[in-house]
Amino acid sequence: MPFELPPLTYAFNALEPHIDATTMEIHHDRHHKAYVDNANAALAGTDWENSSVEDVLTSLDQIPEGIRMAVRNNAGGHYNHSLFWEIMGPDGGGAPTGALGDAINATFGSFDDLKAQVNDAGVKRFGSGWTWLVVSGGALEVMSTPNQDTPLTDGKAPILGIDVWEHAYYLEYQNKRPVYLEAWWNVVNWDAVAARYDAAT
Ligand code: MN
Repeated sequence: MPFELPPLTYAFNALEPHIDATTMEIHHDRHHKAYVDNANAALAGTDWENSSVEDVLTSLDQIPEGIRMAVRNNAGGHYNHSLFWEIMGPDGGGAPTGALGDAINATFGSFDDLKAQVNDAGVKRFGSGWTWLVVSGGALEVMSTPNQDTPLTDGKAPILGIDVWEHAYYLEYQNKRPVYLEAWWNVVNWDAVAARYDAAT
């Protein structure tokens, strides 16, 4: 079955004032939809047209060379954005608790230290990309990727990712990516991040 654009489970304005409704609507309905449509167009008629997005992204070296870059960019965009909508929500923010909170404190020192590392990786990502908290070999790690590359392709399990493409923040924050990153933590859905952490460990 071709990939499908997952519906947002909250309203476009649910993340205001941190992420504005117009940005959310354009980002979900146009940008994410374009990744879905372009990935489906690239994979149509190949052995991969019924594969899961995870299978495709962990097997990029087996994708026919003529469509490999289109698949990397667009299936990657589909996967990354599906995760992004899931790990945000209204009534978000605060600090992580439970096993995830303990692992963050043990790995980074504190939640504030984790936040500083994720934001720093996002600020330093030149051009477009993502900053991530991933599980790699059972341990938490901060990393960033360019474009729509995903940690999944490197065998890492992303549990939190922040889109630092300008389309994610430019209407409200213009060139101020650090201000957007700081504000983003007010919309993180820790229950969803913790569920991904539990599944990855
Ligand atoms: Mn985006």
